[in-house]
Formats: sequence, structure tokens, C-alpha cells
Amino acid sequence: MSAYAYRDRNRTEVIYASEAMTENIDTLFFCPNKDCNAHLHICAVDGSRKAYFRATHKQFPHIDNCPFASSANHFDSDKFNEEAFSFDDAINNLFLVKKESERNRNQRNIGEHNNGEPNKQPIKTLRQIYSMCKSRPVTDMYAGKKIRDMILDDRSAYYYTKGCFENKIVEARRQVGHFFEDESKRVFLKAPTESGKYTFVLQFDEEKIYGKIKTEIKKNRDKLFIVAGKWESAEKYNHFISNIYSDRQVKVIR
Ligand SMILES: [Zn+2]
Repeated sequence: MSAYAYRDRNRTEVIYASEAMTENIDTLFFCPNKDCNAHLHICAVDGSRKAYFRATHKQFPHIDNCPFASSANHFDSDKFNEEAFSFDDAINNLFLVKKESERNRNQRNIGEHNNGEPNKQPIKTLRQIYSMCKSRPVTDMYAGKKIRDMILDDRSAYYYTKGCFENKIVEARRQVGHFFEDESKRVFLKAPTESGKYTFVLQFDEEKIYGKIKTEIKKNRDKLFIVAGKWESAEKYNHFISNIYSDRQVKVIR
């Protein structure tokens, strides 16, 4: 399911599900993934006034691993405080080991009392940030920052002509063949997923986290992975490396 789609096959005219409520269910829309030929139609979510685009016809499904097929990527913007979101703070927080990040959150909560209204929190997990990024075109903004400045995926690939640096989420697939190196505790992924132009080197410190992530990637070898890293050039051309301190920095998209 997708929160936006295109009216035309060339993907020039975007339409958000929230604007498409009055469209006929037979009207055909196109998947945000330009390599996917799914035929999308507007649907209401059960028990909700919200609408989404779904590939409702069995003959025209999403391609395998299309990031817009999964209902796990659903993002409900009403549940979160957009203004309070800082991409760099959120990413840096994922680098912290759990205890420290809990402490930071608790400290922040103390200063946030307001009129007894339930406090909306900013998005903070990697999955939440990823879902938000997938819920709108990459030239749209969230909390004052363009989506393409937060995520490297097939949609934003055109923008990353010189590489991928600083805090970024990368949507990647496993490097074909040898994708890990036990001696150096490194895992190798390729992104953007369509061209596989860049190699992303995940450098682990902790044996335990390295083992866990390596196993996870082995088990889901054909899936997409998302990684939150602080990227810099690695030794080789078109290679970028980040430390992975916490398993919260790497997730499988199912
Ligand atoms: Zn698709």
C-alpha cells in the first residue's frame, strides 16, 4: 500500500491518497517505483477514513520486493509530532546503545508537559523514519528537510551523483556472492537497489551485533535492507563506510 501514486506512466503527476478519496475505484494509478508496473487503485482502509493506493488486481501486482507493496510501511503522520523531528538527532540517537538512548528520551519527556494533552512524539525508530520517507515523493519536505536529503533509494538516486555522505538512510540489497568478512567484522551491501552503483560497508565493533545482523541478512538474502549510517568514503572507489554501533541501525523490509 502506498500513500501516493502517479496519474501517468511517466510519473510526472503525483497524487496523494488523501486527495484521491473522490476518485473512482476503477481509476488506474501508477506505483511510485518506476520499475514496477503495478496497477494501483484507491482504497479506504477498513474502519478508517484514510485512503491508500493498492494493487487490487491480481494480474497487475507489485514486482518482487517493491517497497510500496508492503503494508508494514504504512505511515500515519497524524500520530507524530513533525515539528519536533530532527533527522540528525533521530539518526544519532539510533547510534547510541539502548540504555543511553532511553535515558535521553526520559530527560526530554520531563520538559514536555503541556495542558494535559497527550504528547505526540516525533518519529524515532528507523522503521518509522523509513515509512515516512516512503509516504511522499523525495522532493517533498518533512520537518523542513527534503526526503532526498534523508534517504538514498531508487527514487533519490539521481541526486547522489558523487556518492553518499553524512547521516543518511540507505535502502540496499545484499552484495551478490561474498557479502561479509568475519576478520574485519564487515558486511557489504549495494545501493541504490536497481543500479547497485555504490557499495556500502557496514563496520561493526561488537561481535554480537555483527553476528546477529549477518544472520539476519543471510536469512533474508533477497529482501531489501535499510541502514542508518554516518557515511564516509572507504578505501575503494564508490565504496562508503559507516560504523554500526546498534542493531537498531539495520532493518529488513519484509
Ligand atoms: Zn510497486
